[in-house]
Amino acid sequence: MTAIHTIDLEHRGTPGSIASYIVIGTGGPVMIETGPGSTVDTLERGLADLGFTPADVRHVFVTHIHFDHAGACGWMAGHGARVYVHEFGRRHLADPSRLVNSARRIYGNEMDERWGEILPVPEDQLESLHDLDSIEVEGLRFRVLETPGHARHHHAFATDIDGVRVAFTGDAAACFIDVSPEYISLPTPPPEFQLGTWLATVRRLESERFDRLYPTHFGHVDDPPAHLSRVKQSLRDHAAFVLERLDAGLDEPAIVDEYAEWLVARASAAGVPPELEPFYITDTNPAMNVAGMVRYWNKLRA
Ligand SMILES: [Zn+2]
Repeated sequence: MTAIHTIDLEHRGTPGSIASYIVIGTGGPVMIETGPGSTVDTLERGLADLGFTPADVRHVFVTHIHFDHAGACGWMAGHGARVYVHEFGRRHLADPSRLVNSARRIYGNEMDERWGEILPVPEDQLESLHDLDSIEVEGLRFRVLETPGHARHHHAFATDIDGVRVAFTGDAAACFIDVSPEYISLPTPPPEFQLGTWLATVRRLESERFDRLYPTHFGHVDDPPAHLSRVKQSLRDHAAFVLERLDAGLDEPAIVDEYAEWLVARASAAGVPPELEPFYITDTNPAMNVAGMVRYWNKLRA
């Protein structure tokens, strides 16, 4: 029996975009990533396909507090789960109002359709995680790895399944597209994207020599060295692309236009099927990526 199951949350009707992972231990199922509040129906259906109800899941781990990873933590807590989160993300799960308000400024009318209801997690159901913590639940052991760069507070969770060393990497190992593994889709949102920090995180993941990675977007990576080396190259390429244009005096909207074109060209060169482009390129949100990188370079140069 495979102990790791992938629930495809089909966010906004798109298969293969956001995963919730269910690891079945001797004591029961453990959930890694809840997905957003807008996909709790798909989450519940995915659990039912595995023979579980939400109340059967007593332990939920999230890599970081962004809504696409942790938006349904409050909903899971409502069914009784304990929620394990980075010590510095904890307060945002206990009281998501600040995150919700700032997301509402970005997404406006799309907020509810995109992310759904973001419920708070009661304090006494929250567990704080730190680098190198080792947590045993349901007969499974998870090692916690601090993996910042995409977000300041981000963890990957390592475990051993029948001798196979796996890691749930959230966004730390970027995104993976199984039909075109050479194309790396990178989320570099403001205000926390940090190029050097993220590169160090990728090197940390490389040094662990995992057999398999499970990025939240999406599915499993069977060749971690090849994937991680592409992630490093992509991080350097994207950041350099933006820096060159900043140095040339382009304003942000002009950089976004060029960046979006560049992404499409890179994707088609790497074999991303055109029908996947809207999701992996347009929906990646070039404006948000550029904003994250511009902020990073401006701060560095100030
Ligand atoms: Zn994120």
